[in-house]
Formats: sequence, structure tokens, C-alpha cells
Amino acid sequence: MTGLADLAGVGVDRRGGFARHGFSGVDLELRRWFAEEAERRGLDVETDRNGNTWAWWGPPGESAVVTGSHLDSVPGGGAFDGPLGVVAALRAIDLLRGRGFTPGRPLAVVVFVEEEGGRFGSACLGSRLLTGALDADAARRLTDPGGVSLAEAVRTSGFDPARLGRDGGALRRIGVFVELHVEQGRGLVDLGAPVGVASSILAHGRWRFRFTGEGNHAGATMMGDRRDPMVAAAATVLAARRAAVDDTRATVGRLVPTPGGTNVIPSSVDLWLDARAHDTPRTRDLVATITEAACRAAADEGCAVGITEESYGDPVTFDVGLRDRLVDTLGGVPVLPTGAGHDAGVLAAHAPTAMLFVRNPTGVSHAPEEFAEEADCAEGARALADVLAELAQ
Ligand SMILES: [Zn+2]
Repeated sequence: MTGLADLAGVGVDRRGGFARHGFSGVDLELRRWFAEEAERRGLDVETDRNGNTWAWWGPPGESAVVTGSHLDSVPGGGAFDGPLGVVAALRAIDLLRGRGFTPGRPLAVVVFVEEEGGRFGSACLGSRLLTGALDADAARRLTDPGGVSLAEAVRTSGFDPARLGRDGGALRRIGVFVELHVEQGRGLVDLGAPVGVASSILAHGRWRFRFTGEGNHAGATMMGDRRDPMVAAAATVLAARRAAVDDTRATVGRLVPTPGGTNVIPSSVDLWLDARAHDTPRTRDLVATITEAACRAAADEGCAVGITEESYGDPVTFDVGLRDRLVDTLGGVPVLPTGAGHDAGVLAAHAPTAMLFVRNPTGVSHAPEEFAEEADCAEGARALADVLAELAQ
């Protein structure tokens, strides 16, 4: 799809895929691209207190029909997760104009900042600041892997970190929110359908485990004399795999030994756990089981472990009335759940919210293999235009 091709050279990750993170130079480039695309269509562009960008068709106002997604990626992310929802929103506006449609309510395309939490570790940063789900002081103190604080990065990008936080005015304008997204699984492939509507999102959270032992020499330290935090961390990775049964999910995708030398027993290891389940009790049980195993492994190795909850989100069931209205509008497309988090999940607590999914033939996401066929992207944009016409009439 046109816009996706425009972005193909922006934020390329030398390890493969894309590295597009919030409040970075790449983010500024993506913001410029979006503003130009919006202005070319005569939309009025504004940035809210938290760095989310809005493009308005007609005067901004309350009870607006809002669509959009995000342009940032995970490290090594694919081309579709986020950008497809933004590009499809712009395409849907073109289609609606081509049909001679004029919205009867304010209509906006929004781009939420740092949805993936790829830089500051906190998912859905822009939408959670907007709704107040994330405390502004806590957010300002977040740091990226290079030690740069969010407050500093916000300032460098030309925004005022003092203004971060719940934005009642911006929130009241969202009458209804619809996010189009590439599917992050094979649900639509198995159903043979190009487009579907979301039913729910799993509960999910992120926890940091810091194992502390004794840094020492890899050759001179006898095996029996070691207090190696890597051994405790490794046992925790295996415990996470064993603990995630049935429909629960536990992943360790990031592990940082300090100081990190081949011939050095690390003095500490930080490990991040991503855990998800259908409800909060099952998510909490899963994390408790892994925590217990981590404490046991640390004790066995003569190490200490400290655990911090970095984020948590309850499960989300999207507005059933809105979901059914979308399914009807689209002639009975399938309804399916997702295990992935989204800004739509954050907004669902504040306004009727829905999601459209576009088929992903690889079923892979958060990796360069993430994909959607051109025809399916076009079908998604058409479906989004139909939905916006229904909601904004
Ligand atoms: Zn996404």
C-alpha cells in the first residue's frame, strides 16, 4: 500500500526489520511524513500534550469518530504492525471523499506515540498517558537502554515534559475509536477471510527480574565457588516455559548481563518477563509460579533477586454493541480474539472501541516476516471506510 512503501527506508534496523522508537530522530521523521500526508489531504494536524498526533477532517470537537494506530515498532519489527492502521486510515478518507461522503461528526486520524514501549519499556505509552492509566511522574522517570530519561527525550523532540499526563480535553473528543491492525496470528488465514473484527485482548504485563551475584574470573573461579546470576536467570527462563500452560503465555525476550564479557562471570543479570492470560487471576498465578522458581534458583546459586512490575493491563472485551455493528456493516466478517496489546485496549475503558484485523499470511509479527498482501490491505482500507461512514454519518 502506497504509504507503507514511502516508509520502507525510515528507521531500518541493521539487525533486520525496523527500529522506530518514540521521541527519537526516526520518530520526528515519521511525524513529518504523517503531517505532510494529512496536510496534503487538507486535514488539520495537531499534537496533544503527550506527543500523540491528530489529523482532523473538519473542525475538532467532542464525540468524534477517531481511527488510527501507531508508527513506532519493536526492535527488529515488521513493516505492518502500526503503520498499516495509519496508512489505511488515510486511504479510507480518500475513499470516503471519492464517494462524496461528508462526515456528520468530527472525524480524526490519530497516531499514538511509543505504542510498543520499544525504547522506554512501557507499552502504549501515548495512550496510557492520555487516559491517565500511566502516572506522568513515573513516565518522566522512565529511561531508555542508553540512560536517557523520557523527560529528556520529550524535550529533545520539541515537546514540554511538564505537560505530560491525563488529557481530559483530548479524551472527551473521542466518541468512538476504531483501530485497524495487521493480525498477529493465523486466525484469518485459517478462516480464509481477509478482514475480521476483534473481540478481546488478553491480560498482559511486564516484569523485570534483577539477579545479583558475584562478578568474577571465568578461568580462575572454581565451579563450586561461584555465585553466578546467569545460572539463576537461565533457570527462570526454563521455569517460564514450564509454567505457561493451556492458554497462558510467558516470554523472556530480553536479558542483559552486567558487565557482559565472554570470560566474565556476570555480577548481575536483568531479565524481562512478558506474561499474558485470559484473566487477571490466571496472569497473577502464572507470574507467581515463575517468581517462586526465580527465588529458588537465586537461593540455590547464592544470589539475590529483586522483581519489579513495569506494566500491567487487565484483559479487554471490546464494546459488544459496536463490534456487532461493525460485523453487520461489513456483511458478517469473522470475530476473533487477540493475544497482542493495543492502544485500542487502553481506550476501551473510556469510549466504545473496536478493532479491525487484516489477514497476515505468515502469522508472524514483531519480526521482519510480518506481512499482508496488497489486496488484503486494500480490502482493510475499504472496510475501514465503510465503518467510518456508518459511524460518522
Ligand atoms: Zn501495533
